[in-house]
Amino acid sequence: MIEILFLLLPLAFYSGWKSAKKNNLKQCVESNKLADDYVKGVNYLLSEKPDKALEVFINHPDVDEYTAETYLLLGNMFRNRGEVDRALRLHQNLMARSSLNKDQKAAVMFALGEDYSAAGMLDRAEGVFQELLTTSPHAINACIPLRQIYEQTHEWEKAIEATKCLKQKKMPIAYQKLIAHYYCEMAETEMEQGNLHRVEEYIAKAYKSCKKSARVMALQADLYDRKNNYKQAFTLYLKALKNDMHLLTHLFEKITKVAMKIGKIKEFEIVLFELYGRDDSVLAYLLELVGLDSSAQIATDFLLEDLKRKNLDIYSISKSIEILQANEACSENEKLSRIKLALDHYLQRKATFQCLSCGYQMQDYLWRCPACYQWDKVSHA
Ligand SMILES: [Zn+2]
Repeated sequence: MIEILFLLLPLAFYSGWKSAKKNNLKQCVESNKLADDYVKGVNYLLSEKPDKALEVFINHPDVDEYTAETYLLLGNMFRNRGEVDRALRLHQNLMARSSLNKDQKAAVMFALGEDYSAAGMLDRAEGVFQELLTTSPHAINACIPLRQIYEQTHEWEKAIEATKCLKQKKMPIAYQKLIAHYYCEMAETEMEQGNLHRVEEYIAKAYKSCKKSARVMALQADLYDRKNNYKQAFTLYLKALKNDMHLLTHLFEKITKVAMKIGKIKEFEIVLFELYGRDDSVLAYLLELVGLDSSAQIATDFLLEDLKRKNLDIYSISKSIEILQANEACSENEKLSRIKLALDHYLQRKATFQCLSCGYQMQDYLWRCPACYQWDKVSHA
């Protein structure tokens, strides 16, 4: 509620200024009436009676360029509290006022578009933001919510246009990456439908937008795999992995599959050893390869040593037990089996992936977090 008190400040200043400036009784009375109504409205807000407060604000006839700013913020406050209906009523009422100047009209339109977005009325929000871009060429920021709308509706070409419209002199890296993601989304849809030539076109465009995108590399590797070109697929998967090792969980099965086809498990193992030096969680995957490679370099002694020394995650511990169980020298097999079973039950309930930004958990890998809508933030949980 502290934000409501801040809403009082501009009006207090305004009321005092207006009274001082217009030194006649009638105007002073009008000014005080405005302040009285305003305080009444704020009191309703503080008493948790937002509908009564809204009536006071909406029915007040005297909204001018000074108070409009405060009303705009009040509407935004309603939206931020999840009271989208109230935000919409206030902003729509404000929009109908003839006393607003051009910049204020643009600001209210922007707020209205955000209200519609928050209410899930994406068509109306899109309409408002598009109109804003047409009527107010300086309102370039409308491209940001437009891009977010097109992400939600999976209209990737439009999302690309909305991102490009934000471009100033040089496209920032973050936007280049976003555009690469949008092309990859379209490429994946075409891949599912078997239109491989279209996939190639979109991958080429994605590369053009962002050469260093690990997703584009991984997608190109998928395409090579689809065309039975396993050597190139393997090389590109590893390149993607080295570029962004958060992708290990997502790519592990794919890389292992192509590595087995071309006898490159050992090479994959070496790459994982390198990554293990940077991140202990790689051990679980390294151990997974042990079962596939009879000449694996990882000895049980080495593993036992790391179990003592390192702060391993639960996947690595579970995998370690599996490896120890397979070792005939281990005489505690039955006890280990029970521990392994308990860990397996636990891991079945545990989410595989988690957003590094907001903590949202999920079972399948997603390039864009469905909770906070950020790209490239999903990692192993
Ligand atoms: Zn998130």
